[in-house]
Amino acid sequence: MDPLERLSSLFERFPGIGPRQANRFVQFLLRSSPSVRRELIDAIAAVGSGVHQCPQCMRFHAGAAKICGICDNPRRDVRTLAVVATDTDLAALERSGTFRGSYFVIGGTVSLASEKGDNLRTLQLLDSLAARSDAGLEEIILAFPANPEGDATCIFVREHLSPIAEVLNLTITSLGRGLSTGSELEYADPETLKSAFESRR
Ligand SMILES: [Zn+2]
Repeated sequence: MDPLERLSSLFERFPGIGPRQANRFVQFLLRSSPSVRRELIDAIAAVGSGVHQCPQCMRFHAGAAKICGICDNPRRDVRTLAVVATDTDLAALERSGTFRGSYFVIGGTVSLASEKGDNLRTLQLLDSLAARSDAGLEEIILAFPANPEGDATCIFVREHLSPIAEVLNLTITSLGRGLSTGSELEYADPETLKSAFESRR
């Protein structure tokens, strides 16, 4: 395959990238200096070697220890656990500085086509609840995007968590609709995220 076509088809695998955008990336790289291309190659290679998944919150991080800097931070509030869809949403909440508890990245949202959540780490979350409860957990906050997939995920996860939450005496809440409908957490401003957390129920 022609190298330019090959690169373009690789970019097309990225989420939200179509042939036109993929081709624009290729054109950009053609105009870039060899050092810019080298930097990109090194950064992509480092993602494979220097990054690993935290066994507690499931997010990917580049820390030296297995457990990430958030889960390992003794100043975080162990009473609240925010369940988020993706690493990107976790990063958005961290940037906003509104939440001081711990996280669990469930790994996506329920697909509306199948209404199934087989792709989600629901079992891992369930398995971790007894230990989290022993450590002081009181409330699980479902922090999913304010769109149909996020709502479906909220219902799905709540259904699966409810029986064990009842046994362990944990409250399950979800974010209030301070978030405008359709908004992704990653695009919400800190004030909006703050009010969504404050109005959770
Ligand atoms: Zn972690």
